[in-house]
Amino acid sequence: MGAGIVGLAHALAAVRRGLSVRVIDRDAQANGASVRNFGFVTVTGQQAGDTWRRARRSRDVWAELAPQAGIEVAHRGLVVAVRRPEAESVLQAFVGTEAGAECRLMSPAEARERVPALRADGLRAALWSPHELRVESRDAVPKLAAWLEHAHGVDIRRGVLALGVDVPAVETTAGRFDADTVIVCPGDDFLGLYAARIAAYGLTRCALQMMRVAPAAPMRLGAAVMSDFGLVRYLGYSVLEPAAALRRAIERDEPEMLEHGIHLIAVQAPDDDTLVVGDSHHYAATPGPFGRDDVDGLILRDLDRVLELPARSVIQRWIGTYASADDRTVLIDRPAERVRVVVVTSGTGASTAFGIAEDVVAELT
Ligand SMILES: Cc1cc2nc3c(=O)[nH]c(=O)nc-3n(C[C@H](O)[C@H](O)[C@H](O)COP(=O)(O)OP(=O)(O)OC[C@H]3O[C@@H](n4cnc5c(N)ncnc54)[C@H](O)[C@@H]3O)c2cc1C
Repeated sequence: MGAGIVGLAHALAAVRRGLSVRVIDRDAQANGASVRNFGFVTVTGQQAGDTWRRARRSRDVWAELAPQAGIEVAHRGLVVAVRRPEAESVLQAFVGTEAGAECRLMSPAEARERVPALRADGLRAALWSPHELRVESRDAVPKLAAWLEHAHGVDIRRGVLALGVDVPAVETTAGRFDADTVIVCPGDDFLGLYAARIAAYGLTRCALQMMRVAPAAPMRLGAAVMSDFGLVRYLGYSVLEPAAALRRAIERDEPEMLEHGIHLIAVQAPDDDTLVVGDSHHYAATPGPFGRDDVDGLILRDLDRVLELPARSVIQRWIGTYASADDRTVLIDRPAERVRVVVVTSGTGASTAFGIAEDVVAELT
């Protein structure tokens, strides 16, 4: 249940094990976090352990299926371009960790060779990670679904709300379906199936403001770009000892960035010059629908410090929400012998779903 990236990843893992799969989704088209995100398949910076392992595996699955499913990889790799000495210390510590083994520090000049749009002024150092890739989610998720249908015989039913599960029966607004095994992937809707069980985990929701930015002149970004602020949010960096000093420096100089949970990510579309830029983080059980212009302004302030994009314009704005938990990056619950509830409880579903799904389906089969 659920045709977001988590549900589709489970469908793929199941057909690869020879199972016959039906996916049901209440919406007429993908409309949740999976099409509102950056499409940034992030490895470097993920929490050590299962999350990092699943991110590496998911990146490989994306790379393998993209050409088969007609999904274009817009760019590969990540440049974390930093301005503060404290941020440089975090990067130095990071390259000494297991996760940093294939990453390296770059001088500002080297960084600008990789990403010519990086602003030289104030750029202190940069990290290069070769691991990441970027897809345009609003196209990639529908293409993935279409490929699962045509190449793997997955039966995707849209406009169908799941009402209840009692294996083998799945009651829906389109009648009863039968299934040996049910995997429930509801995204950040905690009030549908297994609401009481999900409530026991104390999840909340996170709302993020996002923008599409059009450069005035043709340009290629070359890699995903992040700045100092990502180093106090992504768990793979923020647990490192020098990150505490960086957080204090940001608290002192730009507390508003922490207040709104802002960290800069900029990625580019495969087929035009536009950039997807974000984001902010506001937590609530029911996030409000109203975006804040001042929050977008803070995100753009950092964008303009990091990238040189003269006369750029914002051509689209949207809000996305995802499930969030303090104590885990994913919730895998087992309400019955042949039922699993899988909710990615961090902003990492595009990066980890294929790895999570392989683990869940392997355990079930
Ligand atoms: C703005 C933003 C930026 C992000 N950036 C990144 C990023 O760069 N990299 C990254 O890895 N992750 C990122 N994420 C996180 C990632 O997008 C999510 O973790 C992931 O999309 C969650 O996928 P999902 O399939 O669980 O949820 P969804 O995409 O929300 O899909 C859930 C589906 O379940 C369906 N559904 C729910 N209940 C029912 C029911 N009862 N019956 C039928 N259907 C039902 C819904 O209709 C929906 O289609 C970001 C998220 C946001 C919001």
